[in-house]
Amino acid sequence: MRIRARVEGTVQGVGFRPYVYRLAGELGCSGHVFNDARGVVVEVEAGAAEVERFLTRLPAEAPPLARVERVMTEPVPATGSSGFTIVESPAGGEPSALVSPDTATCAECLEELFDPADRRYRYPFVNCTNCGPRFTIVRGVPYDRPLTTMAGFRMCDACQAEYDDPADRRFHAQPNACPACGPRVRLLGSDADDAVRAAADALRGGAILAVKGMGGYHLACRADHEWAVAALRGRKHREDKPFALMAPNLVAARALVELGTEEETLLVARERPIVLARRRPGAPVASAVAPRSPDLGVMLPYSPLHHLLLAEVDLPLVLTSGNVSDEPIAYRDEDAVTRLAGIADAFLVHDRPIHTRTDDSVVRAVAGRPLMLRRSRGYVPTNIDLPVPAKRHVLACGAELKSTFCLARGSRAWVGHHIGDLSNYETLRAFTEGIEHFERLFAVAPAVVAHDLHPDYLSTRFAHEREGVELIAVQHHHAHLAACLAEHGETGPAVGAIYDGTGYGTDGTVWGGELLRGDLVSFERIGALYPVRMPGGEAAIRQPWRMACAWLVAADAAPPPTVRSRDGWEQVSGLARTGFASPVTTSVGRLFDAVAALCGVRDEVNYEGQAAIELEAACDPVEEGAYPLGPDLDPRELVGAVVADLERGVGVGVVAARFHNAVAAATAEACTRAGEGTVVLAGGVFANRRLLERTRALLESRGLRVLVPERLPPGDGGISYGQAAVAAARTR
Ligand code: ZN
Ligand code: ZN
Ligand code: FE
Repeated sequence: MRIRARVEGTVQGVGFRPYVYRLAGELGCSGHVFNDARGVVVEVEAGAAEVERFLTRLPAEAPPLARVERVMTEPVPATGSSGFTIVESPAGGEPSALVSPDTATCAECLEELFDPADRRYRYPFVNCTNCGPRFTIVRGVPYDRPLTTMAGFRMCDACQAEYDDPADRRFHAQPNACPACGPRVRLLGSDADDAVRAAADALRGGAILAVKGMGGYHLACRADHEWAVAALRGRKHREDKPFALMAPNLVAARALVELGTEEETLLVARERPIVLARRRPGAPVASAVAPRSPDLGVMLPYSPLHHLLLAEVDLPLVLTSGNVSDEPIAYRDEDAVTRLAGIADAFLVHDRPIHTRTDDSVVRAVAGRPLMLRRSRGYVPTNIDLPVPAKRHVLACGAELKSTFCLARGSRAWVGHHIGDLSNYETLRAFTEGIEHFERLFAVAPAVVAHDLHPDYLSTRFAHEREGVELIAVQHHHAHLAACLAEHGETGPAVGAIYDGTGYGTDGTVWGGELLRGDLVSFERIGALYPVRMPGGEAAIRQPWRMACAWLVAADAAPPPTVRSRDGWEQVSGLARTGFASPVTTSVGRLFDAVAALCGVRDEVNYEGQAAIELEAACDPVEEGAYPLGPDLDPRELVGAVVADLERGVGVGVVAARFHNAVAAATAEACTRAGEGTVVLAGGVFANRRLLERTRALLESRGLRVLVPERLPPGDGGISYGQAAVAAARTR
């Protein structure tokens, strides 16, 4: 019998056709396979039992990078064919299926890397159809070697033979290379034979090394070297924000952090994100790696170069983005050498260009599920589908901090890589270039452009500059709600507790503690945190003690000793009282700031969310008490109780825990009263594990369904996707 099977999903550029070729050969089926606009088409001919076995194994044993979403089969007349062939694709194949994310070195390539008899022994660019760089080297479509940054490297005969052989695991592996024909690594200014060994020696001696990775330059040093880590911090002008670590292997990672099943799964996954996990007491890291943080961010090597370097150093390294303070990570060679010259003692570089800058992704496990904090390398550009397909092509411009963009066509949406804060020329350029790149890669020509309500965001202005498109403004917290619904394939209605730092409200004030009832199309605001002033405006974001003033004024409470001795106290309280230069906010993020300042945990921040992170870290894990806070989310009484406890000498850990418990209980109560069966918890504040786990448990114990962002960050990195979901639903 002969069957035609149409396979849909991520099945192109992932070794699917050679896989089909091998499977058919193994089962003695004849026929052919080819890519077309919608995926892969296979025809197989053999006895009924063989064909059935073929169809069972086809989705089940698909190559690791493939994602089979659907297989549709129909019988066709037998042709008496013999042999199995891979047929050239008809023109006009859909480009969207062709670009997969960058993927960690696979087990087979690793074996070759460390096998002295292999021709790629210690070759830092070994890769195959199942692993290696993809998104970061793609310049255009179709995804073919000339349109990648491998274009300048001509394959040698041996590599070309692998590339051309359907039975070879490097069949059509676009970045295929070997020491004879591919990219080379070198240590700048050194003529060492083995650049990686020389770099490893420098690292072991305490040097700071710039390393060109997959999506950009990293800065590396020994994680256990107090002087080196402190010097790196000083030279990078990075005060407190924790540094990520790369451990040589899982055993070494276990010595750094406590790893549950979920964390280990994330750590070894082919996306290889940075996994935030609880620091082990006595972890062998310098104190400057993550000051005051109970967690460490750890990842495992993901490129052959990292594998070689880490195997050689055999110690955990700090591996942080190659930049000065908040600039975007450097990825162009000359620019990197210029910008990092004052930081790095040595440069380990190579000559394979990076086309798209991508940062490492960051993820945390909460209650046994992944919670994405930064979605970039390894995950981008995998599509995240929309529950309501976009009738016209959509571009969504996102927010301003932790910015991403999103393009959508039909039911597919592609969220771009993490761009960072859209505050300077470099990030704005990365944003606009990224959008153009995605438009080409995925054949999206936006007719609808969604943007934030905030009139002054650069992303909003960018949207307004697009000509001949329909503009759709989406309220910030509605976008958070929609993003979470849509990634779970839902359309609502639901009630959402959306807590974050800042979002422009429909009334022009600063929202950030919102209870919304809504669906993908619209929402109503059914509650909000009690509004207070932000004394001095933006300054109150950098200086949480100002928010402490505002809340004390609102609660009519006397300042505790932690804050009343502070210079400027009277003046700032005056601003809060009169409202001069002090906009009104309902932000829960700012309430966390205020309590952190009252507790003396932090009165000024030097990275976003720092006060809340340190307040969470301070929590006494066993404290079960809670301050008074009702479902009306008016924390004035709570603030009074915090001050009273502090005056009484109650420990900061207990105060912090009672505060978290109160917010969780009040949120659960408020959501329950809304009377919807489904609750969404989203917004950057819910990156807080204690708050999220408690709120979720309380809601679930009352029989409510709780949806939490998983594949996209709860913070503003998910906003663009939420805007796209709203735009698609509204233009239906
Ligand atoms: Zn491989
Ligand atoms: Zn070669
Ligand atoms: Fe937000």
